[in-house]
Amino acid sequence: MKVKFIKSASKQEDWIVDEKTEICFIGRSNCGKSSLINAIAHTTVARSSSTPGRTQLVNFFDCGKFRLVDLPGYGFAKVSKKVKDYLEVIIQEYLLYRKNLFAVFQVCDANVVTEDDASMSKFLQQRFINHFVILNKTDKHPMSTYQNNLARTARFLGTKIDNIILVSAKKKTNIDLIDKKIKKTLALISK
Ligand code: GDP
Repeated sequence: MKVKFIKSASKQEDWIVDEKTEICFIGRSNCGKSSLINAIAHTTVARSSSTPGRTQLVNFFDCGKFRLVDLPGYGFAKVSKKVKDYLEVIIQEYLLYRKNLFAVFQVCDANVVTEDDASMSKFLQQRFINHFVILNKTDKHPMSTYQNNLARTARFLGTKIDNIILVSAKKKTNIDLIDKKIKKTLALISK
């Protein structure tokens, strides 16, 4: 997929104002969200956590028919309470009030799906936002391990198995399934 970085912003007044559809990626810090966006783009467009800064901002990427929006990571193990509160406000403002938002892809570390992940998943579903879960880092065990756990993970996150995609940004496994899911979701708009 062709992905081009547009801008980073924190404050709502700096977000892009137009009618373009946005698909957002959200995940606990360190889940591999930046690596995944780079894998989708087939090049380095997103900075990883080793470059602090962008991971605490809302990053906008142009993908042609839609924009991909990379939200700050939640979970925030390494940041102060003040920064944590500030990031939570940004995330909530975006998820609750962004008119352009059409679907959320929630990235989780397949090896450690946490209560924070479950809260986010339930928060999104209660608001009837199109919501999919990407379980990343499936290269750490045989894929069958993750497949066997899928029903349990889906129950824990309060979502359907069909809404979950098993991937590895590192090994580039199933990245095409994310592209397909995005295309299928966007097709709903014109229906
Ligand atoms: P972010 O904070 O969610 O943007 O995560 P990053 O993309 O910066 O990745 C966090 C860490 O997880 C880095 O050390 C990555 O190399 C590693 N990582 C990302 N994706 C994968 C993956 O698919 N498999 C494995 N094993 N490690 C990954």
